[in-house]
Amino acid sequence: MKALVLEEKGVLSFQEVKTPVPQEGEALIKVQATGICGSDLPRIFGDQAYFYPLIPGHELAGVVVEVGKKEDKEWIGKRVTAYPLIPCRNCPYCEVGQYELCNNYGYLGSRQNGSFAEFVVAPVENLMSLPQGVSWEEGALSEPGAVTLHALRRAHPEVGDRVAVFGLGPIGLLCGMWAKMGGARMLTGYDVDEQKFPLAHTLGFDLALSPAEKKEEVDLSIEASGNSRALRDALGIVRKKGKLLLVGNQEQDVTLKPEDIGVILRRELTVVGTWNSDFSSLNSDWKRLLELEERGRISLSPLISHRITLEEAPSFMLEMQQKRFSYTKVIIEPQEVR
Ligand SMILES: [Zn+2]
Ligand SMILES: [Zn+2]
Repeated sequence: MKALVLEEKGVLSFQEVKTPVPQEGEALIKVQATGICGSDLPRIFGDQAYFYPLIPGHELAGVVVEVGKKEDKEWIGKRVTAYPLIPCRNCPYCEVGQYELCNNYGYLGSRQNGSFAEFVVAPVENLMSLPQGVSWEEGALSEPGAVTLHALRRAHPEVGDRVAVFGLGPIGLLCGMWAKMGGARMLTGYDVDEQKFPLAHTLGFDLALSPAEKKEEVDLSIEASGNSRALRDALGIVRKKGKLLLVGNQEQDVTLKPEDIGVILRRELTVVGTWNSDFSSLNSDWKRLLELEERGRISLSPLISHRITLEEAPSFMLEMQQKRFSYTKVIIEPQEVR
């Protein structure tokens, strides 16, 4: 099969590799669409890969073409997406279905080969059927959709809250969409890149502003940029007894001054962390997301700015890394050739 192989730091090549064979408990998926995640860039161009050579990619949709010998053949031919976190199903957190907190997990596209390829292998237990109306590319966005839904659910916003989102990349935009669906009365987005404002307005943000502008107080402030200045800005505008939700992975050290800690203490703030998404049967973020999409209550396709082939991806991702152009969500279509 054709795949993108990360051979060493910064060296991603389009090449022919062996098609993986599904083992016990696994399915082979023909990948129809796979999303480039913000986390893929540091994995490819930084020091965040677990091993080389690695096929990255963890946001996917495709069709099951084969399953391991003992698995249910009913899966073959099904349109699916996959939860990329592979839980051990053995630790105390897995035992209670909190797979996102697993002590010993695998991960598609980082701890094992992922979906930047014509085919990928994933555990059958990690598959979710795609409802009919959900397209391949929307299916591939299930992971960021579920991760952001999980984030918002962690913060328990109330109907009528004023919400601010720092960082209007796909994750920030999705957080805003969920906040709006949850009944935010005023949703403000902050970003240094004004080119992101029109899409934010389209997706339901009431205001899109530069972080340099004067900021209004909010009930819930969401840091989704991974920028340390944005984190301090996000903290600064939370009302007394309000909440700060941390979503972005910080790339550098964050310095909190004594007065910042003072803000958390004196305002009695709740600081909320969030990690990955819930895939348990009762609380699944994935089921909620896919059902909302099926009912036409939310659509993730407006987030897609570019569609590329596998072969185009290495040079395209280098330009993304160098910030040569503005993009939101980039989808690779591994079955396409141009
Ligand atoms: Zn992702
Ligand atoms: Zn576990």
